[in-house]
Amino acid sequence: MITVVGSINMDLVVRANRFPKQGETALGDLYTTIPGGKGANQAVAAARLGEAVQMIGAVGTDAFGDELLKGLASENIDIGMVKRVDGTSGIANILLSEGDNRIIVVPGANHAIEAHELEALESKLSASDIVILQLELPIPVVQKTLEICHKHNVPTILNPAPADAYTKELLPYATYLTPNETEAEEIFGAGWEQSIEQYPNRLIVTLGKKGARYFDGRKHVLVEGFETQAIDTTGAGDTFNGAFAVALVENMPFEEAVRYANAAASLSVEKFGAQGGMPFRQEVLERMG
Ligand code: ATP
Repeated sequence: MITVVGSINMDLVVRANRFPKQGETALGDLYTTIPGGKGANQAVAAARLGEAVQMIGAVGTDAFGDELLKGLASENIDIGMVKRVDGTSGIANILLSEGDNRIIVVPGANHAIEAHELEALESKLSASDIVILQLELPIPVVQKTLEICHKHNVPTILNPAPADAYTKELLPYATYLTPNETEAEEIFGAGWEQSIEQYPNRLIVTLGKKGARYFDGRKHVLVEGFETQAIDTTGAGDTFNGAFAVALVENMPFEEAVRYANAAASLSVEKFGAQGGMPFRQEVLERMG
């Protein structure tokens, strides 16, 4: 069983041919709502690949909450531990224009989870094969979850996004850390390539289309990405994490697990939306050849 402790958001996507200036109103040409949130995305990625997944998180009592829960359940994700809290669900307001984006995230229900609630779920966490976390829930919740898993020897993947300097303090408790390049620099500074040598076979830095790298105790290993036509890279990192968890649960050798995650993530960028392109198991196996 894979447990994801993380955020659940509705992405509100608006597109216009240019960004409005301060105080200006611009006319858009697209509005769409897409389920997102790093936690939910990673849960969907793992579930599509055929593993049993349960989610710990929160949505609001608003209509988005209904829709988000329905979406997760339709992906065969156990939502029994997603609580509903008075108020709004988390949203990400995404403005697309000029080949770029501007995003405002309002955490809403995601920030209504408290660390002591994780203590009540200790038996669920300790019975998991692996637990995945990101940094879109309150840090004390992430820390408490990591501590409980550490105590019970349950492996954890911490995807430190969005990263901050505090992330380093969580590192001793996480089994695996999966920053992208920007996050690696945020956590370790400009010399992150050297810093990862302190975490052999634990710290995997994703490098976009180039793939991912880690230090195996003797040498740096680059696991090359799969070349593809990228349409929308949103959620590539989330697919990587969900797939990496699946590969570890299935006892793949470490380098093979990273390659599996690369393959799944490369498929995810071929379609629009974070969850839209997340692949099923057979597609990943075919891509791996
Ligand atoms: P995002 O924030 O867009 O979800 P990220 O910044 O967290 O992604 P990246 O390092 O950009 O993470 O990408 C994660 C993984 O996705 C990479 O390690 C790689 O396997 C895959 N990937 C990303 N972009 C591409 C691409 N253009 N072509 C093939 N694979 C890609």
